[in-house]
Parts: sequence; structure tokens; C-alpha cells
Amino acid sequence: MSDLLVSGGRVLRPSGTVERADVLLDQDAGSITAVDEPGAVAGADELDAAGGLVIPGLVNAHTHVAMTLFRGAADDKPLDAWLQEDIWPVEAELRAEDVAAGTRLGVAEMVRSGTTAFGDMYFFMDEVAAVAAETGVRARLGHGCISVGRPETEAVADFEEGLDFAREYDGHADGRVRTMFTPHSLTTVDEAHFETFLPRAREADLPVHFHANETTDEVDPILEERGQRPLAWADDLGLLAEDSFVAHGVHVDETEIDRLAERGTAVVHCPASNMKLASGMAPVQELLDAGVTVGLGTDGAASNNDLDMFDEVRDAAMLGKLAADDASAVDAHTAVRLATEGSAAALGVDSGRLEAGANADLAVLDLDAPHLTPQHDLVSHLAYAASGSDVRHTVCDGQVLMRDRELTTIDLDAARQAAEQQARALFERAAD
Ligand SMILES: [Zn+2]
Repeated sequence: MSDLLVSGGRVLRPSGTVERADVLLDQDAGSITAVDEPGAVAGADELDAAGGLVIPGLVNAHTHVAMTLFRGAADDKPLDAWLQEDIWPVEAELRAEDVAAGTRLGVAEMVRSGTTAFGDMYFFMDEVAAVAAETGVRARLGHGCISVGRPETEAVADFEEGLDFAREYDGHADGRVRTMFTPHSLTTVDEAHFETFLPRAREADLPVHFHANETTDEVDPILEERGQRPLAWADDLGLLAEDSFVAHGVHVDETEIDRLAERGTAVVHCPASNMKLASGMAPVQELLDAGVTVGLGTDGAASNNDLDMFDEVRDAAMLGKLAADDASAVDAHTAVRLATEGSAAALGVDSGRLEAGANADLAVLDLDAPHLTPQHDLVSHLAYAASGSDVRHTVCDGQVLMRDRELTTIDLDAARQAAEQQARALFERAAD
């Protein structure tokens, strides 16, 4: 049996307290064996956390990782125009090797900023699964299915591909890769395709993840056409369940919040993307007060424009206060919990908490920086002052993926170079 002892640091516990403790990891099982008093356990391989803060690996519960290739290519537009004019025409030219390169770059960025798990809805998902396997991260993956505006045979083939991928890859990479059924959104999938394919996804026991209530442009047509709120319709379709989770949930009314709470459906809040596309302010504190599980996601790098979850935590706290018109809303502890326990619960993975039995996913932050001094309250620092570049080590499934800022499973220079080349070629193809 091989063990790894993360020693000498202070540890963020699930209760939100910070204690001096060592964390013992079972590398074979990929789980935490114990969180114990300093020096109580010895004889294992060690990872030095002296002077640092050990936190659960952050969980990016909604992203499109390969969209790192689009970073900075088109900014400062509302969602609809941005998708139709800038994103979809280029995505139509995407090839498998683009997705592989963009995902590898994105995973490097996430590991360097303390993220150990992500939820990804995109295309060429076998490439994403391969990159997750090769780099050692944890992921919940789904092929984004779209039917609106497509010939029937093409739409059906897209859904079949989504189901095939999810069935084939669930449990891949020693169980680090799990899958899901991901109809893109309530406005990009026709009713008939929901009705045909959702029962098949349920039969295969797949969680369901889709974009919902992101902008008023998306909510209003559903209201007009059906005379009901989008999540009421989603519920009628059978989309809301305990293992389902929606991205965004910005424009949700009280009845929809109650419905989410009743069904146990989680919301993944994407504050940076919502601000950048001026989509609106999700009522995060109201969702939490109603008992809805809320996680955090960066969304794609094209609408963020980075994958640093520390930014997301801060944005969630700030935007949550603005949305509630209350400075006590989405406090520091809550914001940190969104990116750890909340996101892990949304994805259905046992990460996001440093406790015996949980997945051995963690990050160690350096605290000896001017922006983290003095240390009145380390949870406050996590929410409001820290950033991804403060992360010294990252561990996923008991394996060290970054040690002293050096990635162990990714050649960073090669990953950057490949992404640069693929992005250039992709945008040249799209311009032709
Ligand atoms: Zn998205």
C-alpha cells in the first residue's frame, strides 16, 4: 500500500474551521485515510505543506474546457450575438486534435490553480476523456447535444453520439472519469428530442446537465410559447431530478427556486460569465436559503476568460451581495463552500471535503505573500485575496499533479505551443 502524508500545514475542515493537521492519503484507493494532529502519522511519503494552507481541490462544475482555444478571440458582446457571430461558426470547424490541445491547456491551467475536478459539456468528448486519463484529473463529461436548426438525421446522430459516449466512458481512468447526458439547453433542443432521448439516458442511469435560465432572451420565448416558466417546462419533461444539475439559473423566479429545491436539482453558478455577457445576477443567497445545492463553474474560457476558480469564488461572493442588495449575503465561508462541497455535490463526486473516506483531492496554498498578510482569517483570504498562482501543490486521487509549481503529468511548454498552433489553424479555417 502506498501512502502520501501532506504534512506541516494548516487544514481547512468541512466545518469551515482551520486547524494545524496532517492529511494522510491512500494512493491506491485514491482516498483520504485520516486528517490527524501534526506528527500523529509517520512513515509515509511526504508532501511538504509547511507554512501553507491545505484545502479541498476546487471543483469547476460547469465549463467547456477546450474553449481555451477561443480565449480573447471575441469579447464584449451579448450571449446571443456572441454565440451566433463568433463562437458557433468557429466551433463548426473544430477537429478532434483541437479539442485535445485545448483541453490539455485548460487542464494545465486548472491544476496550476488548485482545481482537481471539472464538469465538461463539449464535443469530441473521447479526446477530453483521454486527456483526463493522461493528466490525472477527475471529470464528469458529456457530449453537448443540439437539435434546433439541424436536419433530423443529424440531430438524432448527435444524441446517439451523446448516449454512446456516456455509456462507453463512464468509470474510465480508474473511475476518475464519470459521464452524463447533456442536452445543450431548453432553447437549443426540440421537445421531441427531449422526449425521445431523456428516457434512454435515465435508463442508462446517467445524470442530466443542461444550460437553463441564463438570459432573459432565453426565458421569454419559452414563456411566450408555452405560457410557463422554463424550469416548469423542464420539470414536465422530466429533466429535474436529484442527479440533474443546471448551469446558470440566473433568471429564476420563486416558483422555480422552490421547484429546484423540491427536486434536489443543483445549480452551477457561473458569475464571471454572467457578468461578462451581462446575462444578469443569479439569486445565489435565495437559492441557498431555499435549500438548493449551488456549485460554481467558470463556463468556457471565451466568456471568463480564465479557468481560475479563486476568481470565481470572489466573483460569487461579490455578485451574490449585489444581487441580494445585502453585504452579508454569500459570505466568505459560503463562497468557498460553493467551489468545494457545492460543486462536488452538483457533479456527484465525493470530493470537496478534507475528511477520512473522501476522495484524495486537495491543493496546498503558500501563505507567505503580501496579499495574504496578516492572517486574521484564512477563509476570508481564500474568498477575497488568494488566487490560483498561490497554489504550491495539487493532488488528485492521491497522485501529485503539481509539486512546487511544477506539473508532473503535463509538459506545459509543449501544451501551450500545441494550443497556440491549433488555435491559429482553427481560426484560419473558420475565416476561409
Ligand atoms: Zn456553458
